[in-house]
Amino acid sequence: MTSATPFGADFGALEATDPEIARILLAERDRLNDGLQLIASENFTSPAVLAALGSTLSNKYAEGYPGRRYYGGCEVVDQAETLGIERAKALFGADHANLQPHSGASANLAVYGAFLQPGDTLLAMSLPHGGHLTHGTKVSFSGKWFNAVHYGVSQETEDIDYDQMRSLAREHRPKMIICGGSAIPRLIDFAAFREVADEVGAILFVDAAHFIGLVAGKAIPSPVPYADVVTFTTHKVLRGPRGGMLVCKAEHAAALDKAVFPMMQGGPLMHAVAAKAVALKECATPEYQAYAKQVIANSQALTAALAEEGMRPITGGTDTHLSLLDLQGIGVTGAEAEARAGAARIVLNKNAIPYDPQPPSIASGIRVGTPATTTQGLDEADMRVVASLISRAVKDADGSETAAVAAEVHELVKNKPAYAS
Ligand SMILES: *Cc1c(COP(=O)(O)O)cnc(C)c1O
Repeated sequence: MTSATPFGADFGALEATDPEIARILLAERDRLNDGLQLIASENFTSPAVLAALGSTLSNKYAEGYPGRRYYGGCEVVDQAETLGIERAKALFGADHANLQPHSGASANLAVYGAFLQPGDTLLAMSLPHGGHLTHGTKVSFSGKWFNAVHYGVSQETEDIDYDQMRSLAREHRPKMIICGGSAIPRLIDFAAFREVADEVGAILFVDAAHFIGLVAGKAIPSPVPYADVVTFTTHKVLRGPRGGMLVCKAEHAAALDKAVFPMMQGGPLMHAVAAKAVALKECATPEYQAYAKQVIANSQALTAALAEEGMRPITGGTDTHLSLLDLQGIGVTGAEAEARAGAARIVLNKNAIPYDPQPPSIASGIRVGTPATTTQGLDEADMRVVASLISRAVKDADGSETAAVAAEVHELVKNKPAYAS
């Protein structure tokens, strides 16, 4: 699906008022259109989502929830939030939904606020093994205010070490167990996490930020039946506006709503809430379901082709929209790969691999994902071309290939732009 326009509202008004920012918006559109966006957490939103984002709903103060606001004049925006909540509940088969978290990190903050007291113990995936900053790292509130214990992946399989997770849970009796992360290529066994949470009396919190779009598109199993609460971002595979959301069991609805507002946030961003509702409607279509399956097919094709070029997939492959590649076999660091590919307009990120000998600022791996390129219409055959272009770029130490690779990137995407000009 490509867009009629990359701009939500009246671009002429912006050009007249602020030509400098207008130029920047055009330059960003051109950057997206003349490159390959392989950042696994990014996507291209639809014109419908952008229209809702660029709307007057941005003006409205609506602290509270539909029918229970602290301000007058909310009867119209109430309809947008109610529609969004109903769509989320139907799409995910959830008892309750909250569309107000400003971001994935804000949604996670609310979950901690609802269930934990400062000093309580939580058990989560470690960041260097694929977790997330908000899952108890020392630089985040979650590691400063709570006692975080971390499980990782097994050195053999490079997939989640469920035995280690179980024994840490038995030893530390955490109040909350978290699964999900930012660099996990495989499906997560939610039933196994539920069993351990029940055994030790912990809340099970699934952070589905990365993969919720694949769940929405019915391409992978859902965590919703297993988890007490599921948080996610709406801007990754889900392809909505930048923001966060949560769904939960009925028994936790009141506590989580109070934790989002007024505990952690002020007024909701009603334009973003409306845009989330639009995205949820798009996600319920057969077209989106086909998209979600294609994202995985493309990811698997790309990963297999990169493996043939000497880049070793962590866990041997992928079940999802992303993969993590170990570049030690080709003698290139993650930082070098990111810079060389970027120079040829292939945007990807360096990423630590499990048990990485390099510091995170250099890293031995890269992470690649297919949500954005699939939205613009690339298929498995294109992914084999993409893999060979990545390979040429990252192995090109002196930059002699950069211009040639960039030209081939241009040829590959010129008829499938992210956004129409
Ligand atoms: C992206 C992500 C988040 C944070 O989302 P923001 O909107 O950037 O705050 C949280 N958890 C996981 C696992 C993520 O991948």
